Amino acid sequence: MKYFILFIHLFLTSTLFSQTDAARLRAALLKDTPIENDLQQLCDEIGGRVTGAPSNNAAVEWGLQKFQEAGVKVKKDPFQMPSLWLPKSTKMSFANMPDFVPHVVAKYHSPVGRSSGEMISVGTGTPDEIVALGTQLKGKFILVEMDLCLDIGGLFAEYAAATTVENEARKAGVKGIIFMASRPKKLLYRFITSKATDENLPQFVMAREDAKRCQRLLQNGKRIQVTVDINAETGGSFESHNVIAEIKGSEYPDEIVLLGAHIDSWALGTGANDNGCNVSMMIDIARQMKALGIQPKRTIRFALWNGEEQGYFGSWDYTKDHLSEMDKHVMAMSVDIGSGAITGFFTNGRAELATATDKILANYPDTSATFTSINVPIVGTDNFDFMLQGVGNLVANHLSATYGLNYHAASDTYDKVDILQLKKNAAIVGLVALGYANMSKEEVNWKRQTREEVQALFDEHKLEFTMRMFNVWEPWVNGTRGVK
Ligand SMILES: [Zn+2]
Repeated sequence: MKYFILFIHLFLTSTLFSQTDAARLRAALLKDTPIENDLQQLCDEIGGRVTGAPSNNAAVEWGLQKFQEAGVKVKKDPFQMPSLWLPKSTKMSFANMPDFVPHVVAKYHSPVGRSSGEMISVGTGTPDEIVALGTQLKGKFILVEMDLCLDIGGLFAEYAAATTVENEARKAGVKGIIFMASRPKKLLYRFITSKATDENLPQFVMAREDAKRCQRLLQNGKRIQVTVDINAETGGSFESHNVIAEIKGSEYPDEIVLLGAHIDSWALGTGANDNGCNVSMMIDIARQMKALGIQPKRTIRFALWNGEEQGYFGSWDYTKDHLSEMDKHVMAMSVDIGSGAITGFFTNGRAELATATDKILANYPDTSATFTSINVPIVGTDNFDFMLQGVGNLVANHLSATYGLNYHAASDTYDKVDILQLKKNAAIVGLVALGYANMSKEEVNWKRQTREEVQALFDEHKLEFTMRMFNVWEPWVNGTRGVK
């Protein structure tokens, strides 16, 4: 009986204690914390943070210092970026209309220098439209109409449409591609192309109003002679850094729950919703856990990834550097879709994680009542190489809020972040992280997938086109990325 009571006592204290930890963490994250000031420093003082730029290095040092100030163990984790491309300016002019100065930006990795040629409108740039114009397109700048992008769905549609155009335009031998901006009021934004760091065809985003004007002029038979100058600082491979912090586990210190958000951004704006807000979230969760003296059973690692925008290079490198630990990664989460309310998680083909997450959040029905897990694989952020490694991975799903409209744009600034919602999101991510870290061995009823299982997931979801959209299909197929 005595032993029984002791057992009950231990059971209750351990269960209640861990619940109390989660509740305490949640309450702390919802109270006033430095998250708002941190985000403002990152966005307003450091600003846009293209990997390779001095501001990006400053952001890494800033992140390092934030974790240090919170008393959390942290280090800079070096990796090589394949090439440098820091945009400086893009200037376009029309020989026969000197006063019409269109607003344009070059897409990532467009070759530096001057080029000239005639502009031709190709409608929305479907394969049929391009094929119909045939040899007329050789050596020309093609103008492509794009749909309005109003939300996250619109973003993926835009990447897909642009990839189709690129493929056809390369075959047709065009000199350059001018995409009509998908967002109005002269808003410009930076995109990568489907060749990413291997791109060598000049590609541009032109202000929607300017592109429409060109389109009307061309329809009326006017000829437009384009000259464009791209200025960017370019170079070969260079060293960049992730910031990796951790709170050691008490019972299974070699098992890891990984939370990540990328610290790099494009620099037309200041990378607020993409992804400064969630960088600040990572720091705040670590800070509150440390301040409350919470010790998880498993190690919780916090990653501020770098080189994400160019192709998730920082997180890819982490999976290579920590290859011997991959089996020990219980779950890797990416938070990268802004500051709209979290509505659930993408479980990336791992239905077991939906069950586990639901169970963790069941104690907090006010948080999770409307949560929906979506079991589809996400390509486009730092979960990617963990998915390729067969590691259970989550991507937080959010209401679009201000994310889609300001994505990669000059308008992605501090004022677009919903701070109150960001704090609520931090509470959810904190609960989920601690929940995974404190699960019993039996509850972790999934393991790392094999290459065949990962391939089956890609086949089931016909992911080849999407992976090609971001230049990451080949590295998977040829074995340079992912589980062997
Ligand atoms: Zn992002």
